Amino acid sequence: MASTSPLKASTSSVAAAISTEGLHKHYGNLEVLKGIDFRADDGEVISILGASGSGKSTFLRCLNLLELPSAGRIRILDEDVKLRPGRVNLRIADQRQIDRLRTQVAMVFQNFCLWSHMTVLDNLMEAPVHVQRRNRAEVRDEAEAILRRVGLLDRAKYYPAQLSGGQQQRAAIARALVMKPRVLLFDEPTSALDPELVGEVLKVMRDLAAEGRTMLVVTHEMAFARDVSSRVLFLEQGRIAAQGAPRDLFGGGMNERFDQFVSRFNEG
Ligand code: ADP
Ligand code: MG
Repeated sequence: MASTSPLKASTSSVAAAISTEGLHKHYGNLEVLKGIDFRADDGEVISILGASGSGKSTFLRCLNLLELPSAGRIRILDEDVKLRPGRVNLRIADQRQIDRLRTQVAMVFQNFCLWSHMTVLDNLMEAPVHVQRRNRAEVRDEAEAILRRVGLLDRAKYYPAQLSGGQQQRAAIARALVMKPRVLLFDEPTSALDPELVGEVLKVMRDLAAEGRTMLVVTHEMAFARDVSSRVLFLEQGRIAAQGAPRDLFGGGMNERFDQFVSRFNEG
């Protein structure tokens, strides 16, 4: 047993939502991800911490196939992503599979990335109607229900520029949810917000976590990482330097570099 990889050793009956094995990513000569073995079970909320440049965004972008790794395997909902060898990075072997899996793994960005020329409601409806080809009236009902959940139903007809940053980010989360994804990726969702607007976005994320969603959250919000996540991952120079239950990691003494990293936040 000792020789099996952590991925294969798992005897958990819980399905893996998303996993990687030996994930590497190069940009030219720069090796940004240096072999990441990772597994998120259904319903896990995983906070990903690490200094700027440690590869957090690149990791998330590989997981939702915005970037292709240079080596390694990615499994999404128990399906191997079909990739084939390329010159530097792997290449897509089955575009239809990628398109299908991409809708299962939604991403929320630091800068919201809403379409500025569309109302909030149209932002939500665009992909379900035009990519997923779902029924327009049904999608509208669902979009409105989701907007109500995130407290934005009264802003459905507004354009992004007419909203606060916190409202824009809640709209972006709503837009991710309307695709009915199985995994939600967040890349520093509150980093672009004025401090007084951070709480309203974190509240939405806490609600999603409480509902049992599978979430991977790159964040500098230590309280969120400590109190909401089931597991914390600490990336350093493209490797997982430490991981564990927040209680254990934040308790200190597990990983010196992690302790240093956290103490810098507590000072600031
Ligand atoms: P983090 O999100 O942890 O700050 P990133 O994943 O954004 O880190 O970046 C990790 C490293 O990869 C950095 O050195 C960054 O400059 C580099 N990098 C990221 N994206 C690209 C790119 N498209 N081309 C070249 N280098 C990149
Ligand atoms: Mg980043």
